Amino acid sequence: MSDLHADPSRRLFLGWAAGTAAAVSLGAVLPRAARAADLPHLNPADPAAQALGYVENTAQVSQARYPGHKSTQNCSNCSFFQEVAGSAWGPCQLFPGKSVAAQGWCSAYAPKAA
Ligand code: SF4
Repeated sequence: MSDLHADPSRRLFLGWAAGTAAAVSLGAVLPRAARAADLPHLNPADPAAQALGYVENTAQVSQARYPGHKSTQNCSNCSFFQEVAGSAWGPCQLFPGKSVAAQGWCSAYAPKAA
């Protein structure tokens, strides 16, 4: 008859399993904002970003190219922006898996409902 506590490989496996379960549980309860903050920043040179004229600062928008742009428009007040409190970056529904600059802008800008 084997003794569970005497077998080092079983103890090692049980320790690994408990650590893995704890890590998975922690990932499930981390605030959405914490995970969103880890998203890579959208590169303005990315073809999808370029197609919509994305810039990291709304002051960089070409008025000649986008005459309807207003300096008060930016990602932080766009309806597609998923705000992360206290962060200068956040997810955008149009660029899944990336975060955009709160002060950024693109031609898909749509103001948040008042
Ligand atoms: S859709 Fe809105 S939040 Fe997304 S990049 Fe364009 S302006 Fe920013």
